[in-house]
Amino acid sequence: MPSSYQAPTRGDKARDTHVSQSTDSNLAQETATVQKLLSQKGGDIFTIRPQDTLANAVQALRDKRIGALLVTDQDGMLKGILSERDIVRKLAETPGQTLPQTVAENMTSNVVSCAPGDTLVSVLRRMTDGKFRHMPVLEDGKLCGMVTVGDVVNFRLNELEYEALKLKQMIVG
Ligand code: AMP
Repeated sequence: MPSSYQAPTRGDKARDTHVSQSTDSNLAQETATVQKLLSQKGGDIFTIRPQDTLANAVQALRDKRIGALLVTDQDGMLKGILSERDIVRKLAETPGQTLPQTVAENMTSNVVSCAPGDTLVSVLRRMTDGKFRHMPVLEDGKLCGMVTVGDVVNFRLNELEYEALKLKQMIVG
């Protein structure tokens, strides 16, 4: 046994534990949930009815400054999603005859949704793989918000800025 050896004493372990980065911040990006994002963003959703026209839809998209509307029936049940991309596609296919068409004939009916407990990483993955930028949030079958690619990127950027500030404070003191 080397002469410099000293048996560990209580408390050594805690003192000797070094992490090169904050474990909190490393874990945050993998565990941040839709719920956390919605608690900051709010649960506002903008809806339209299937029988409404694309003329109604473009006005709502402009007024609300958003890129997609959730299509719901009179009971608030989710029936589809209509994004600006659906409208642009139809404008190219039926020039001059697009705006009177109904939301129902242009929406995507097979909507991929997420739950409040889902991680943002998994939501981003599903949006990237599915090539869409919007995802409604459902809790017990009820709509409780909308998450977009932009929201997730914005959330992560804010987190990164906060982490950078914390690191700076640790260094500068
Ligand atoms: P976006 O990129 O969200 O503007 O939408 C691109 C296409 O995907 C459009 O045809 C939308 O109707 C459709 N879409 C958007 N969000 C979803 C979703 N959550 N589930 C299924 N389709 C979607």
